[in-house]
Amino acid sequence: MKVPFVDLKLQYQNYKAEIDKAIADVIADTAFIGGSGNKYVQKFESEFAKYLGIANVISCANGTDSLEILLEAYGITEGEEVIVPALSWISSSEAVGRCGAKPVFVDVCEDTLLMDLNLVEKAITKNTKAIMPVHLYGNALNMEEVMRIAKKHNLIVIEDCAQAHGAKYNGKLVGTFGHASSFSFYPGKNLGAYGDAGAIATNDETIAKKCRMIANHGQQRKHDHIIEGRNSRMDGLHAAILSVKLNYLDGWNLARNKAASHYSKILDSTNVSLPIQNKNAYHVFHLYVIRSNKRDQLKEHLSSQGIEVAIHYPTALPFLNAYSYLKHQPEQFPVAFKQTKNILSIPMYPELNVEQIDHISKVINNF
Ligand SMILES: *Cc1c(COP(=O)(O)O)cnc(C)c1O
Repeated sequence: MKVPFVDLKLQYQNYKAEIDKAIADVIADTAFIGGSGNKYVQKFESEFAKYLGIANVISCANGTDSLEILLEAYGITEGEEVIVPALSWISSSEAVGRCGAKPVFVDVCEDTLLMDLNLVEKAITKNTKAIMPVHLYGNALNMEEVMRIAKKHNLIVIEDCAQAHGAKYNGKLVGTFGHASSFSFYPGKNLGAYGDAGAIATNDETIAKKCRMIANHGQQRKHDHIIEGRNSRMDGLHAAILSVKLNYLDGWNLARNKAASHYSKILDSTNVSLPIQNKNAYHVFHLYVIRSNKRDQLKEHLSSQGIEVAIHYPTALPFLNAYSYLKHQPEQFPVAFKQTKNILSIPMYPELNVEQIDHISKVINNF
């Protein structure tokens, strides 16, 4: 039995009529480019704002841009520092570097692989301006503690929710704790477009206005360029597709949770350890990440059986070539350094069925 890592084709088949209509409507209206005149983009922005319970959602071209635009809107620049977890997708530190600031990495917890909040205060210097926590794999970070630390040191908090649409901490949606939050709608994310797309959410009107300007060539109105901005807009097609898919997000997250519970019930190999839900978190399992000290052999074994797997991520951020200039050593981030050799993401998506999970688990248990 072959099992894909995600099955976007199956998802499309299940909602084909609705999605095809959404796409046809946008084309009939030639409402291609985002901006103040696009009703599909405006509709999705207001629906997503309502979903989050946040006053402003500003769509943009992708989830990396949303981080970068936010850092720029907060005026973060050269000589300043932003705290990010050592284990994440490169966007976390890339956005900081692109603003001319320095990414300061913090190691992750041994159990959850989320940023270790006991280490954050040690990383704060007089140049620190912001913390960009990541709800990695869909697991919600303790945002109450992040906000306590940020308040004490007068820091901005930008939540990276790229992997955690609909996740909650203490019953409250992630992306609603920080000063602002960032979302990616990359196709494979829990809420995904049919190409690149992203969004910013914030209750801060001034920041919202700035972000909207930056994302659309610095224009306040057409041809009224207040500043130099950039071209980072969400396409009408993606917005219309996302409007359809948003209705199903909570159900899909529930299905991911059920799939995760089923895995956890069946997987009993002594060679692997299972993902741990953070205390008080509603985990939305963007990824289901197991660990094994025979990871590479296990990966090979699963691949040979037609089960698609992946590693998120094979190298912790401080040890990427892009950051060699920071001269980081493994001892500085021992957990991230060690766990990147053990982690393995196995198939996880809402449509994953019990037979598939049983099969994958059996192959792992027999390894
Ligand atoms: C996917 C992702 C992003 C960036 O999203 P893009 O839309 O691909 O630019 C940022 N942060 C994290 C943690 C991600 O997983």
